[in-house]
Amino acid sequence: MTLATYAVRQQDQVIGLQAVQHAIADACARAGRDPQSVTLIAASKTVAADVIESAISAGHRVFGENRVQEARTKWPSVRSKFAGTQLHLIGPLQTNKVSEAVTLFDVIHSVDRPRLCEALSRHCDAQGRQPTLFVQVNTGAEPQKAGVLPGEADRFLAACADVYGLRITGLMCIPPASEPAEPHFQLLAKIAARNGLRFLSMGMSADFAAAIEFGATHVRVGRAIFGARERGAT
Ligand SMILES: *Cc1c(COP(=O)(O)O)cnc(C)c1O
Repeated sequence: MTLATYAVRQQDQVIGLQAVQHAIADACARAGRDPQSVTLIAASKTVAADVIESAISAGHRVFGENRVQEARTKWPSVRSKFAGTQLHLIGPLQTNKVSEAVTLFDVIHSVDRPRLCEALSRHCDAQGRQPTLFVQVNTGAEPQKAGVLPGEADRFLAACADVYGLRITGLMCIPPASEPAEPHFQLLAKIAARNGLRFLSMGMSADFAAAIEFGATHVRVGRAIFGARERGAT
């Protein structure tokens, strides 16, 4: 990237971030919520490290990646240059990547099956690290999507604590693309409330304002900050 295009990209990120921050503040005002109660996770999958660094230079610190491999190639060098960044794993986690995920990430949003719980418990103990954990709920019961089914969430959450000794602090969902998101946000909030969980990771570029009305504490926003991803990128 030339210096001139870099400057333009850098300005784009600042504008994207500011626009999303304003929209979050507006949604909080409408919902009578404190804007500090909502964490903006900048979903930086497919975004190059220099662009991420420009967002950090603009003051942002919280980012989400959906693949362990991609995070491994981009983040160690970024983190060596900037203090205070917080990295969230927002995509599915394979058991053979748990050790690396526990090393790389501060927050994992995709806990969803017993074998993963067992591996997390083991590697957290081994590394003496305790990432913040969310359980992903497949609110639309979509066969291709990760997450526990809504009807199994209570039992799974109990097993996380009782069988695996994992402290779960929140729930995450990705509503079906073809449906209104609100009923899914409402369902996730209901499951969290009855299980005494504080955090709700829900809402993306298209619907984060609605998610805030339903109690989102973490919104995961990519395209509205960084622009459209290339076709074929997830
Ligand atoms: C990419 C991604 C997002 C952000 O999606 P946008 O539509 O770009 O805002 C949120 N959550 C997950 C799990 C993602 O993979």
